[in-house]
Amino acid sequence: MSERVIPLLDQRHPSLPLPPIAEGHALNGLTLDGLRRPLSDLRISVTDRCNFRCSYCMPKEVFDKDYVYLPHKQLLNFEEISRIASVFASQGVRKIRLTGGEPLLRKNIEILIAQLAALRTPEGLPLDLTLTTNGSLLARKAQSLKDAGLQRVTVSLDGLDDAVFRTMNDVDFPVADVLAGIEAAQAAGLGPIKVNMVVKRGTNDHEILPMARHFRGSGIVLRFIEYMDVGATNGWCMDEVLPSAEVIRLLQTELPLVPLDPSAPGETAARWGYANAQGEYDPALGEIGVISSVTQAFCGDCNRARLSTEGRLYLCLFASQGYDLRQLLRDPTQTDTALAAMVDAIWRGRTDQYSVLRSLRGPDTASGPGHRVEMSYIGG
Ligand code: SAM
Ligand code: SF4
Ligand code: SF4
Repeated sequence: MSERVIPLLDQRHPSLPLPPIAEGHALNGLTLDGLRRPLSDLRISVTDRCNFRCSYCMPKEVFDKDYVYLPHKQLLNFEEISRIASVFASQGVRKIRLTGGEPLLRKNIEILIAQLAALRTPEGLPLDLTLTTNGSLLARKAQSLKDAGLQRVTVSLDGLDDAVFRTMNDVDFPVADVLAGIEAAQAAGLGPIKVNMVVKRGTNDHEILPMARHFRGSGIVLRFIEYMDVGATNGWCMDEVLPSAEVIRLLQTELPLVPLDPSAPGETAARWGYANAQGEYDPALGEIGVISSVTQAFCGDCNRARLSTEGRLYLCLFASQGYDLRQLLRDPTQTDTALAAMVDAIWRGRTDQYSVLRSLRGPDTASGPGHRVEMSYIGG
């Protein structure tokens, strides 16, 4: 008999009960959570499917040919996504990131992008609209994404060595095609482009310097991400985490860096600028970022909400349950004001700070059904 550990729909366990909304619930357009953190960043997962099988995210043994993805009718459609995005904008969201799974696999994603690009904040300004992609379809799609109104892209790339990269994506996808995607994005004006590299000690840490040399001075911001214990399927262990402090130390052996101030509140990456011969930041050489999700918790100003492909709202990357907003979106009696009141009430009740707790009491190692949702389901 098969020993499949992760059964069908395991990560999509029952949603949390929606909070009651008091009559006359007042909205002021600035929702603060239980730790006084604003709601300003919304990440929307547009598909739970991906054409890569990065072992840290969608390991092949789990996401195999028998794995059952969400059926199309369970996904939020583009009108539902745009409507809920506009509700979030009314409550303080200023930045929207499309993610997945691989967002460029969602058919006609350009139509959604055009709808989101047309949204305005209460002050009448467009939202900051971006997308995270593995880059595999970017060479083909960069121009149409730009034409639809996408402002920027973040591309994930875990190394320049073709053999290492093919092993990490586990579908034998070549580096050259991702690099061509990045070039196409640059040519289309989808910048400033960021490149995300997840660093796994012993797997791709020898790619840190080659990646830095390659992107230094290119106008592209390379960001090193600590391998995280997200989800319940990647077999995470601390031994494979290379702390960002070590990444910086390694880079400094060849490429001098100086610390830079954060460019926005709640920013996940600590910024470092390349220094010139005088030891000063040289904007022409550019900057890098390190995302120390494991060794330096940044929950204190975490302003990010995550909406799953089927319309569940998650308040933390490490949450195990979300709030079902789809039922409200599909209920004709629910007005936008009622939806806004619900988003406000949910966010007000938020006290999540998993990374802080992890640093105090160690990682939560429980796994299996009923445990944390997968990154590919709620996006990064
Ligand atoms: N498929 C797209 C991509 O790879 O860019 C978007 C979705 S992916 C889940 C979003 C980001 O999460 C990627 O940059 C990926 O490298 C990162 N990621 C996934 N699993 C991770 C893990 N265990 N630790 C750290 N980052 C992870
Ligand atoms: Fe796919 Fe992105 Fe996850 Fe890799 S990190 S498996 S590309 S969703
Ligand atoms: Fe935000 Fe949760 Fe990550 Fe902390 S652990 S920074 S609350 S997503």
